[in-house]
Amino acid sequence: MESIWSKTCGMKQRSPLSGDLHTEAVIIGGGMAGILTAYQLERSGIRTVVLEAERIGSGQTKNTTAKITAQHGLICRTLAEKKGKEVAAQFVMANQIAVEEFEKVIQDEHISCDFEPCSSYVYSDNEQALREEAKMAASFGLPAVFTDQIEIPVPCAGAVRFDRQAKFHPLKFLDALAQQLTIYEQTPVLDAEEHSVKTASGQVTADYIIFATHFPFINFPGMYFARMHQKRSYVLALADAGILNGMYIGDQSDSLSFRQYGRYLLLGGQGHRTGENKDGGNYERLRQKARHLYPGSREVACWSAQDCMTADQIPFIGHYAAERPDWFVATGFQKWGMTSSMLSAMLLRDLICGIKNPYADVFAPSRFSADELSQIVRDSGKAVSGLTKRFFQIPEETISMLQPGHGAIVETDSGKAGVYKTDDQKIYQVDIVCPHLGCQLAWNPDERTWDCPCHGSRFDYKGNLLTGPAQRGIHND
Ligand SMILES: Cc1cc2nc3c(=O)[nH]c(=O)nc-3n(C[C@H](O)[C@H](O)[C@H](O)COP(=O)(O)OP(=O)(O)OC[C@H]3O[C@@H](n4cnc5c(N)ncnc54)[C@H](O)[C@@H]3O)c2cc1C
Repeated sequence: MESIWSKTCGMKQRSPLSGDLHTEAVIIGGGMAGILTAYQLERSGIRTVVLEAERIGSGQTKNTTAKITAQHGLICRTLAEKKGKEVAAQFVMANQIAVEEFEKVIQDEHISCDFEPCSSYVYSDNEQALREEAKMAASFGLPAVFTDQIEIPVPCAGAVRFDRQAKFHPLKFLDALAQQLTIYEQTPVLDAEEHSVKTASGQVTADYIIFATHFPFINFPGMYFARMHQKRSYVLALADAGILNGMYIGDQSDSLSFRQYGRYLLLGGQGHRTGENKDGGNYERLRQKARHLYPGSREVACWSAQDCMTADQIPFIGHYAAERPDWFVATGFQKWGMTSSMLSAMLLRDLICGIKNPYADVFAPSRFSADELSQIVRDSGKAVSGLTKRFFQIPEETISMLQPGHGAIVETDSGKAGVYKTDDQKIYQVDIVCPHLGCQLAWNPDERTWDCPCHGSRFDYKGNLLTGPAQRGIHND
């Protein structure tokens, strides 16, 4: 399952790190956040090295829908209610500045990445909520209006439209921007100490360490595992579905996302918490919606991705933890990681260069809210349940009962194991304990993977690591 971006962009490949080196800043992770942060730091005269476990852009960034927008749902109302109007205004203004910075960087660097300015829309059945959102966003200085003129075939009361937003090809952008940076690929960082990071092929010492690994993998200090969970959703690229000028998303967690890329309409939806997809069928349900909304359309690609969710819907961008003043983090992007990555790059650059940034406090990971406490309680419940299942849940199946093409936790001679039986009856057996913090993994039938319901790590059926925070596979040897 390859995204339309991966299908249409060959990325330059780079060598792994070999030997030790010293630099001013080292960035762990070469996704949108890591590459943009390296670019902003280098442009400010800070010598920067990026260490990427696989290939740049090969994490969630290759599977985004790449809308560049400050319109993160009905975010003004939500944040005004939770945190007050001032925080809401700062949040959207910071994101609007990030939208504009994309255009500036693309122009300055002459990047050809199918960048197109356009409007973005949030549609809803709740006209009052839309009107309130539009009014509030406009009062904050955003180019926002309520409208009942929308292009998508979805019944609703209208939408809030933000003008001066944009869309692009994320991998073409990343590939071009990365040409001027120092990057080592296939170099997973194994550990970090105060001013050094360790890899299997060398150590990098640096004045500043930046974690741009999507989900931070150092558990203490920081404890990001207790402050975030991950959510997945699914995307189809459709040919012959007409042409859409704007970018759309609904205000409900189960509503659909729409954007055009060239001849293709990208339709997204079917969100769920990672690790909670026992019955599968998400691609099929999205296909049914595509057939209903765009009869005669044809699927040319399908893929999925996940992102880190914080309790107050604001990313964590800033100092990693009070105990590590020279460590920084960019995470918790809420499925809005294009502007959040640019914002991270600008905020972290300013923190490192000692420049006061008016938005730093809003995104500071050191903030703590009442929402967070209740989420920690809920997430701890998930973690306890994940651990309890590991010790007390008796598997219902044995290997011989397992149908071809299916995976399950089964009882084997040596105890519980995760087993996948291929269509031609070949058996793959893995450990079902997540190496991150020990939760029991769950089978994901849509993607034939083992997913962690606690913190969202994922593994293929052979046991290879796909997504952190875990940092190693679950091979049963
Ligand atoms: C279905 C879907 C659609 C989305 N659409 C949009 C959208 O339209 N607009 C928008 O703004 N956002 C969108 N998002 C969110 C956005 O895609 C993500 O927030 C963003 O791509 C995250 O970028 P990142 O750099 O933080 O993470 P990643 O791209 O995952 O990069 C992290 C990198 O760190 C590397 N890494 C991990 N551990 C190590 C280690 N130990 N050593 C070295 N490297 C390591 C990984 O290999 C990876 O390459 C969407 C999300 C989903 C789920």
